[in-house]
Amino acid sequence: MLAEKDIQMTTDKAQPVLGYVHSIETFGSVDGPGVRFVAFLQGCRMRCQFCHNPDTWNIGVGTEWTADDLLKEAMKYKAFWGKKGGITVSGGESLLQIDFILDLFKKAKALGVNTCLDTCGQPFSYKEPFFSKFQELMQYTDVSLVDIKHINAAEHKKLTGWTNENILGMIQYMSDNGYHMWIRHVLLPERTDYDDYLRQLGAYIKTIKTVDKVEVLPYHTMGVSKYQNLGIHYPLEGIEPPTAERVANAEKLLDTKAYTGYKVR
Ligand code: SF4
Repeated sequence: MLAEKDIQMTTDKAQPVLGYVHSIETFGSVDGPGVRFVAFLQGCRMRCQFCHNPDTWNIGVGTEWTADDLLKEAMKYKAFWGKKGGITVSGGESLLQIDFILDLFKKAKALGVNTCLDTCGQPFSYKEPFFSKFQELMQYTDVSLVDIKHINAAEHKKLTGWTNENILGMIQYMSDNGYHMWIRHVLLPERTDYDDYLRQLGAYIKTIKTVDKVEVLPYHTMGVSKYQNLGIHYPLEGIEPPTAERVANAEKLLDTKAYTGYKVR
């Protein structure tokens, strides 16, 4: 099991940091720019009601990889990446394994590979040693995909079990320091799909200086069978995916068309 209440904080430099990987997608097309090799890391402390991957929640399990071996595996697909593609680390919550990602991204950048961090930001903290590691990680990250689960702190807590204050703190830090991101938001009837919240979120995103893209992700029910298989109660019983009209409405209120500025850096 991982130390320091689940966040990876390895100090033994002689040993390679092991990553706990849930699964790998070799031709990912939705987790960052271009075609990407996506490693979904195992472990998450949030409990988003709409999570369609509850099988990634357990911490300290999964297939063990070293950064060297995972990078070697990813490089088999380099020919398909073109100018935009590369490697994405997703989850679960990727930042719970920050030492492993740092090792992986450093080595990937040394080979000129585009790196993308997909995170919900829940482990973010200004406390040490996490913050220094995060600062270093940002230097090796080309773009981040950041989910904002709910703009309202109290509703965020109801929806995920955790506050959004440190998550918005992470986004602010990235904005202040020039680190680029895509912001993603799950549109969920009866939870996030209210015009007031969407307007608040849209206004908030306008204050962030480094947003390349904003995506509305319509809630779907494809994860329901996983809950049944794992014997976990599904908390959104009876809630249907949003209509196309509501998705278009959310895109309008978040002004998604204004954010088309992704550039390969
Ligand atoms: S942060 Fe992601 S993996 Fe964790 S519960 Fe939420 S949707 Fe699932």
